[in-house]
Amino acid sequence: MRPEIVVDLAAIRHNVRTLVGLVAPASVMTVVKADGYGHGMVEAARAARGGGAEWIGVATVPEALRLRDAGDDGRILCWLTLPEDVEDGSLARAVESDVDVTAYTVERLDQIVASGANPRVQLKVDTGLSRGGAALADWPALAQRAAEHQQAARARITGIWSHFSCSDEPDHPANDLQHERYRAALRTAEEAGLRPDVRHLANSAAAILRPQSRYDVVRVGLASYGLDPAPGHTPDLGLRPAMTVRAPLALSKRIDRGEGVSYGRTWIADDATTVGLVPVGYGDGVPRHGSNAIEVAIDGVRRPVRGRVCMDQVVVDLGGELAPAGTPVTLFGPGAHGEPTAQDWAQACGTISYEIVTRFGASSARLVRRYVDGDRD
Ligand SMILES: *Cc1c(COP(=O)(O)O)cnc(C)c1O
Repeated sequence: MRPEIVVDLAAIRHNVRTLVGLVAPASVMTVVKADGYGHGMVEAARAARGGGAEWIGVATVPEALRLRDAGDDGRILCWLTLPEDVEDGSLARAVESDVDVTAYTVERLDQIVASGANPRVQLKVDTGLSRGGAALADWPALAQRAAEHQQAARARITGIWSHFSCSDEPDHPANDLQHERYRAALRTAEEAGLRPDVRHLANSAAAILRPQSRYDVVRVGLASYGLDPAPGHTPDLGLRPAMTVRAPLALSKRIDRGEGVSYGRTWIADDATTVGLVPVGYGDGVPRHGSNAIEVAIDGVRRPVRGRVCMDQVVVDLGGELAPAGTPVTLFGPGAHGEPTAQDWAQACGTISYEIVTRFGASSARLVRRYVDGDRD
């Protein structure tokens, strides 16, 4: 075997189906930005459709166009447009192919309207994340302008939405505040004459933990891939992590007591032991913050990483055993066979599981991505 990212499409289908059931009568928008959180955007979107996702959500216009080119002809929302998208015709192509594009400003709204016939436009209001979306002070003007375009049949205003800052902390007061601001923004839009098809506010954590925020659609990224969006808060929904990262052992050998392992000798053997060389490193997505912190599994037994994570390699402690080169090593996976999960790695590295899976996908030049279908294989 070679180092690989194994993606179980049946797990994505199962997770999406589970979420569809959970949030009904709201619909599910499966978010596949950043190459499907590292799982492969087109394949993840296809699996999500198979699980009942009415919508697919992406960040960028090129992502939306790639989905259309791959044959996805369902509802797609894109929320990040750039001046370059206006200039190079990408926005026009998105509009022409019936992608819902999001406007944060009157300027971009007008550019969307100018880019094609009767575009599908969603409006985003910033209720407190201070990232994308119209500032509250600018919201009435954006809603007003959108209503004018709609009345003149120049655009279809299909949705009004916002995004939480603290949905993974269900008791955080920002959730109530943002929700209240969203309600007020909806009232303003209604007074301007807008009647959008869909209102949406919830990401994975809110979709699960804050039912009153589900509205018409929930935008679910992380949970679709089977990972926990709010560790410590989420009930067990039976979601299945879809990504497993594996590599063959390249070498195992004995080291003496007192020997240091890896750069900087940050781990010293206090007894003679054996170590195994795993041929993946931070160049492949293993966080360097995992030095002396993460574990892998060999034959279902956890083995700790010793010393620093290198660019192409990590060293694990085999506790006195030797294993032949080629022995499969599971870096992380669903956790069903003793292996760590992406969440275990996230915790050990002081980050979130979003980053663990996404960075593997993003740096997969040396890792082959292999799709399996647990329902069929
Ligand atoms: C990434 C993203 C989501 C999905 O968030 P999850 O926590 O992964 O469910 C939803 N909405 C927006 C605007 C996003 O950027």
